[in-house]
Amino acid sequence: MWRDFVYVIVGGGVAAGYAALEFTKKGVSHGQLCIISDEAVAPYERPALSKGFLFPEAPARLPGFHTCVGANEEKLTPNWYTEHGIELILGTRVVSADTRLKTLLTATGDTITYKYLIIATGARALKLDEIGINGSNAENVCYLRDLADATKLVNMMRMCTGGTAIVIGGGYIGMECAASLVMNKIKVTMVFPGSYCMGRLFSPKIARYYEDFYKSKGVNFIKGTSLSSLVINLDGKVTGAKLQDGRYVHADMVVVGIGARPNTSLFEGQLTFENGGIQVNSQMQSSKTSVYAVGDIASFPVKLFGNTRRLEHVDAARKTAKHAVCAIMEPKTTSDFDYMPFFYSRVFSLSWQFYGDNVGEVVHFGDFSGTKFGAYWVNDNRLVGCFLEGGGNEDYVAIADAIRLKPVVLDLGELERKGVDFVLAV
Ligand code: FAD
Ligand code: NDP
Repeated sequence: MWRDFVYVIVGGGVAAGYAALEFTKKGVSHGQLCIISDEAVAPYERPALSKGFLFPEAPARLPGFHTCVGANEEKLTPNWYTEHGIELILGTRVVSADTRLKTLLTATGDTITYKYLIIATGARALKLDEIGINGSNAENVCYLRDLADATKLVNMMRMCTGGTAIVIGGGYIGMECAASLVMNKIKVTMVFPGSYCMGRLFSPKIARYYEDFYKSKGVNFIKGTSLSSLVINLDGKVTGAKLQDGRYVHADMVVVGIGARPNTSLFEGQLTFENGGIQVNSQMQSSKTSVYAVGDIASFPVKLFGNTRRLEHVDAARKTAKHAVCAIMEPKTTSDFDYMPFFYSRVFSLSWQFYGDNVGEVVHFGDFSGTKFGAYWVNDNRLVGCFLEGGGNEDYVAIADAIRLKPVVLDLGELERKGVDFVLAV
């Protein structure tokens, strides 16, 4: 079948949901917009999968977390798309794209044409077999990227209650899943190559706080080494892991969080790439004027820091998506995208937010033996980044506002003494 649309979004995740809402705000007509997703459900807030979805009590379930509830906006259920005349093609993979002919071919053999294309294909979890370890598909090895993964993880946790798990990776997935495993009464050993968790964002001091907190919940850390192989029994189940330092760790289940890879293969050789993703300008427009890229796959200019970044975080997905739609629908009045990098996480009773850039000198502040503490980053005498655990809304707003201004800081001791009061006074 051959189908023609004015606007097509390939990928039906976070960015697609926020783009759809923005299209309706800008007055898209019925029948003009189509979203094609290989997931079987309408766009949802992916962060819920490693948080509320994994809770043992009152877990989050769809339709509760369809986009755009995460930004306190309307919840776009499948009916919403119907009511707004948006064609939602679910469970359907786009298998090839031709940006010259402006066509997409789906796995079901349909050809979809567009005038404007938004690429929102996100990222996929890196699998163990891609780093040379067998056992990727064992029934008790879990990844976490989509609803199917999360459902498998929940089922596995139910089967392993009272048992043990190895978590491979000390990044976002590793930390958030380890917390959920503990909440599900599973004893966790975390294994990662770095000397401390969340090595790309945390300072060693911040990491120590979280590691100590996790240890108080019974989590065991094995750092500075990695997986060598999985031990698999005759039933195809993993029973343990051999590590590169020679140790063996028994486990009833394994959770892998060793990074994500952007889903860009459809467009290789057709668009310009950068930072492992699709290069876009400040209007989210790629090297082909009719093609826009948003979310995890977009490498976009961050005006605030004068460079380009590809961010794998939900706030960037929401805002790049909205911006692309504005640029398409109102090209004359849409100003350049001016983004403040923002990341967050919630684990156990803890909750942190980070704004800006973690480069330069780090200055810690607050009570690291208590519940509210943080760090500033100062680069070339300017405040460029701030991390805060346990803050309130007023603190976070002040941090975001201050980092945007990048105030000059000559006395690092003042930052340490004043803590959050420093940004509240900016
Ligand atoms: P995605 O949301 O991944 O959506 C991409 C969609 O495209 C998917 O539905 C995919 O199946 C589909 N697709 C891909 N290829 C094709 C194709 N060829 N044809 C059809 N469809 C295709 N960020 C935070 O800032 N805070 C958090 O707390 C947080 N928690 C997270 C928890 C988890 C478990 C995960 C996995 C991520 C989390 N993130 C978080 C990151 C955040 O969810 C992503 O940055 C965000 O989802 C990116 O949005 P996206 O639309 O670009 O991609
Ligand atoms: P991350 O990149 O955050 O972390 C990967 C972790 O795996 C790092 O600790 C890394 O160590 C480690 N690692 C790399 N290779 C190996 C290996 N061979 N053996 C053991 N460990 C290894 O990726 P995640 O998988 O945690 O997250 C996937 C995606 O989901 C990311 O895009 C992330 O942004 C997103 N996400 C975001 C969340 C949030 O913002 N709150 C929550 C959940 C997911 P090293 O750093 O030393 O290389």
